[in-house]
Amino acid sequence: MIERAVEILSASRRVVTFSGAGLSAESGVPTFRDAGSRGLWSRYEPMKLASPEGFAADPETVIAWYNWRRTVLAGVEPNAAHRALAARTDMLHITQNVDDLLERAGAPADNVVHLHGSMTIDRCHRACGFVERVELASPPPRRLCPMCAAPMRPAVVWFGESLPPEAWTRAAEASGSCDAMIVIGTSAAVYPAAGLIGVARQAGASIIVINAERTDASRLADVEIIGLAGEIVPRLVSPR
Ligand code: NAD
Ligand code: ZN
Repeated sequence: MIERAVEILSASRRVVTFSGAGLSAESGVPTFRDAGSRGLWSRYEPMKLASPEGFAADPETVIAWYNWRRTVLAGVEPNAAHRALAARTDMLHITQNVDDLLERAGAPADNVVHLHGSMTIDRCHRACGFVERVELASPPPRRLCPMCAAPMRPAVVWFGESLPPEAWTRAAEASGSCDAMIVIGTSAAVYPAAGLIGVARQAGASIIVINAERTDASRLADVEIIGLAGEIVPRLVSPR
C-alpha cells in the first residue's frame, strides 16, 4: 500500500494534503473526543464549548477551556509527520487543525490553509475586524474588544459558524484541481471540510488516506493506509 501511494505521488504534479486532529495526536495534542473526556473537563461537552450558544451561555468556561488547550499546545512539539509535510512547499497543506504545529515545523504560513481558524489568534466576536495574536503559554483572560466592546474570543470556527471565506475558496480550488490528495488523521465527519475529499475525487484526483482506523473517507480512497501519521507520512512524503 505504501509503495502504491509513493508511485501515485511521484506521478502527481499537484498534491494537496488534508489533515485533522490525528496529525497532531502523536505530538500530545488531544483529539476532540480526548479533550472532552479528560480530568478537569470531563463534565463538559466539546460541542457546547465550541459553539456560539455555548459561548453565550458560559463565556468564562469557554475561554478557560481554550486557554487550557493553548497551554497544552505551548508545551508540545511538531512530530515527524508535521516535519515531513512542512518540508514540502510544493504541496498545499489544508488542515482542520487549529494548532500551529505545521508552521512550527517550518511550513511557510502561506503554504498552510487553516479551514477552522487558529488558536494562536483572538478576534472580536462581533467581527468588527479587531484581531490579536495570543501567547500560547500565557493566554489572556476573558476580555472585551478594544474597538467595539464586544467579547473577544479565539479565532476558530465553532459548530454552526461558516468557514473563513478566503480559506474555503483557496482549499476548494486547490482540491478541485489537484492530481492527488493525501488525507491524514481525520474522521472526515465534520462538514463542509470533509467535502473537500469528494471535490478532489470528482476532479479525478487520486485519494490516499492515512488514518489510525477506517473512517468516512475510506470509501473514497484509492489507497488506504491504516497506521499512525508520524510513522506513515514521512515514508510517503520525503523531503525534496
Ligand atoms: P477527529 O478527532 O474527529 O478525528 C481524528 C482521526 O484521527 C480519528 O479518525 C482517529 O482515529 C485518527 N487518529 C488519531 N490518532 C492518529 C494518529 N496518530 N495517526 C493517524 N490517525 C490518527 O478530528 P477531525 O477529523 O480533525 O475533526 C474534529 C474537529 O476538531 C476539527 O474540525 C478540528 O478543527 C478540531 N480539533 C483540532 C485539533 C487540533 O488543532 N490539533 C484538536 C482537536 C480537535
Ligand atoms: Zn470589536
